[in-house]
Amino acid sequence: MSFEIKRQIGLLIDRRGEIHEAIVGDARSVFLPDLTKYRVGHDRLCGLRLVHTHLHRGGLDDDDFTDLALLRLDLVAAIQVQDDGLPGVVYVGHLLAANDDDRPWIELDPVSVHDLEEDFEQLIDALEDEFARKRRQYRGHSKRDRAVLVHVSEKTRTEAEESIAELKELTQSAGIDVVHEYVQRRKVDRRFIMGRGKVQEMVIKAMQLGAELLIFDLNIEPTQVKNVSELTDMKVLDRTQVILDIFAQRAETREGKIQVELAQLRYMLPLLSAKHTALSRLTGGIGGRGPGETKLEVDRRRAQQRVTQLQREVNKLGDRRRLRRGRRTDRSVPTVSIVGYTNAGKSTLLNCLTRSDVIAKDALFATLNPVSRRLRFPQEREIIITDTVGFIRKLPAELMEAFKTTFEEIAPASLLLHVLDASNPEVEEHFETVQGVLAELEYSDKPALVVLNKSDKCDAEELEALVNKYGGVAISALDRDTFEPLMGRMESMLWSGAPVAMEEFGGHHDGDGSGDAGGVDVEAASKDVV
Ligand code: GDP
Ligand code: MG
Repeated sequence: MSFEIKRQIGLLIDRRGEIHEAIVGDARSVFLPDLTKYRVGHDRLCGLRLVHTHLHRGGLDDDDFTDLALLRLDLVAAIQVQDDGLPGVVYVGHLLAANDDDRPWIELDPVSVHDLEEDFEQLIDALEDEFARKRRQYRGHSKRDRAVLVHVSEKTRTEAEESIAELKELTQSAGIDVVHEYVQRRKVDRRFIMGRGKVQEMVIKAMQLGAELLIFDLNIEPTQVKNVSELTDMKVLDRTQVILDIFAQRAETREGKIQVELAQLRYMLPLLSAKHTALSRLTGGIGGRGPGETKLEVDRRRAQQRVTQLQREVNKLGDRRRLRRGRRTDRSVPTVSIVGYTNAGKSTLLNCLTRSDVIAKDALFATLNPVSRRLRFPQEREIIITDTVGFIRKLPAELMEAFKTTFEEIAPASLLLHVLDASNPEVEEHFETVQGVLAELEYSDKPALVVLNKSDKCDAEELEALVNKYGGVAISALDRDTFEPLMGRMESMLWSGAPVAMEEFGGHHDGDGSGDAGGVDVEAASKDVV
């Protein structure tokens, strides 16, 4: 028939041999109908094989592999139509549970249709078993969600790689395993973000590695979320949603929780108006778990009402906090705020300075709420020292707004300790990012002391260079014996009147060297948690 009408003909056949669709194409291709109803999940084959005719010479082409990958067909077969109109050789290809020679599929040797002896039922069974075995293997590893990360931009390779490395840390902080990363340096595709070929490659990779999440290293449009999740059958998230998810997991105080829910709702609102199919993939699990048990299936109006209600509550809480802070200022106890890039060691420093127990872990954003402790210096001098949430590059504007109260905590501070992870190769970018955020919040004129942390992990010369560059002081937050110069500098900056130029403290730290943080009496205030 194909020969007579000079068009390709295709059949979609299930595992029992029943024909579900018959498609008539043109001379070079067949266009498959919408197969969403056959979908069984991102990690399984769809149970259909595509058998079609080829009028041209040659084996399976790009279209065939695209269908194989994106539709997760059991297999695809092309039967050649000979010049005499009779069926010739047949080309058969199927996906692989692990790449062979960098290719996620295999093409069997072409044979005449009459000599085809392969038992396809057995072949597919074996293939499914292998995919299932892989899945079990991964699930055995951990119960955590698994994600593929994608960065698409026209940035330099280094910039792109740094950015995706940070997203990887964020993702891991959110409790998700990263199984694969793609960096594509190109213009963002309006419909699918990355190029179609890349989508195809990614989908197979995700299937092989048992990943169900697709996380983009940029903020994406609701329609793009919809397009990509429909095409891939994966749950699609972006950077902001990962950050929000971390916030949601870490928020401890009432105010922190409300702020997270507010930010999540605000971010989700535009998605709520997008089509339902995409949204169902967004709900549940990451991106949808809020401390206030946000039901993202709620309709737009209810969501809007909740935003208003939460906003009211947050304002009230903010007022109360400002009152408390007012009292503190009245007592003329100076406040010091620890700021810095996330993971720099802020919480560790606060803990070690005051022997308190603010969670410090190797996860980004371990601290969400400002936490204040009392710290006593010799001569009955006392300060209140406050930990803050870390800053990161590209902190989305809507998060900035939502967490303003967190940063408000910095307002009364007489001194900022800007903690840097001196062992991080990107330490200078981190410094600039934090300075940028501080400037945006109009705190750049505050006296600040740069604290170069993690000295234990640094090359001595590089550390020295950084100390000079920023007029800072080096410490290891894990080691109280390194705190003396820091304490000395803080004391001078806080009580010597006018803010003092950095150079004047050059020799401060080679004083008595008596160890134990220079006899500083450190005390954790009972429960002075804000
Ligand atoms: P924050 O996000 O700035 O609050 O950072 P954390 O205080 O949570 O610390 C992040 C990670 O860095 C934790 O795993 C700490 O144990 C580690 N860390 C902090 N200070 C030091 C240090 O001086 N040396 C080393 N080697 N690790 C440190
Ligand atoms: Mg912290």
